[in-house]
Amino acid sequence: MEFLNSPSKAHDKCTEVRKNRMTIGYVPTMGALHDGHLSLVERSVDENDFTVVSIFVNPLQFNRPEDLETYPVSINSDKKLLEAAGCDMAYSGEFADFFPGLAMEDAIKTELPCKAILGLEAAHRPGHLEGVQAIVQKLFEVVGDCRAYFGEKDFQQTLVVKELAARIGGVDVIVCPTIREKDGLAMSSRNTRLNTGQRDTATTLYRALFAANQLWTTGVRDAKTLELIMRNEIMKEADLQLEYAAIRDPFNWTAETPTSPVDQAQALIAANLGTVRLIDNCRLGTLTS
Ligand code: AMP
Repeated sequence: MEFLNSPSKAHDKCTEVRKNRMTIGYVPTMGALHDGHLSLVERSVDENDFTVVSIFVNPLQFNRPEDLETYPVSINSDKKLLEAAGCDMAYSGEFADFFPGLAMEDAIKTELPCKAILGLEAAHRPGHLEGVQAIVQKLFEVVGDCRAYFGEKDFQQTLVVKELAARIGGVDVIVCPTIREKDGLAMSSRNTRLNTGQRDTATTLYRALFAANQLWTTGVRDAKTLELIMRNEIMKEADLQLEYAAIRDPFNWTAETPTSPVDQAQALIAANLGTVRLIDNCRLGTLTS
């Protein structure tokens, strides 16, 4: 696997790969890789001739400085994991490589915000999705036409990225399932920052999603009722500070909870456990255990 510490060299390489009529699969990451990330890489390797992964901890998407400062970094083990997964090229860069001459406040303001930046994450993590949109636009410019793989784990992010890709053209966004630990906890780079007790408590998010899923299978379609059962599960754990437990129509994103019965429902939760922010979601009716 080739590792390029330069977005412009990565761009040249991708251009050359396409000239050779090879398809490119691309997985953007912030590193500290786990099996969730690797599932995206493996899918890309299966579906494309050449797989590219980026590792860049994007400061624009962190609204809390301490979260950025403590974000896990493991570049050497990341490279080994990517090589073993069949990745062909990984690249990284500095903030100035992506946003030459721009201060953070200006870099985040460059584009029209996508419509999916509305409610939930926007209300609780102001600027986060704008920061995602800004970097993903740059990352897509580096790689060019490709299939780009994203995890459903960050559901609202997938909506933003799809909207952005439709605007830019040439990038086909593929959303892949959330990979979980055996007890249901969604894998996340931030999980390494949980202590043993917190690690147990963290599974409450999955239990809350599961409770809503069960209610859904009994025929309940009222979003507020489905939200309440999730909220009640989270409230059982005093250490969890709930930000939201919400139901949204996945195909018609709205800032507020739908008031009429929902035909399809995405259940989404965000909660803080100590200094670690946890998020998870699922399509109701899809959880089996
Ligand atoms: P991150 O490094 O957190 O920016 O994540 C990079 C990509 O991996 C994003 O598309 C995430 O949605 C995806 N991802 C993170 N965790 C998981 C997971 N548990 N299962 C599947 N995809 C994931």
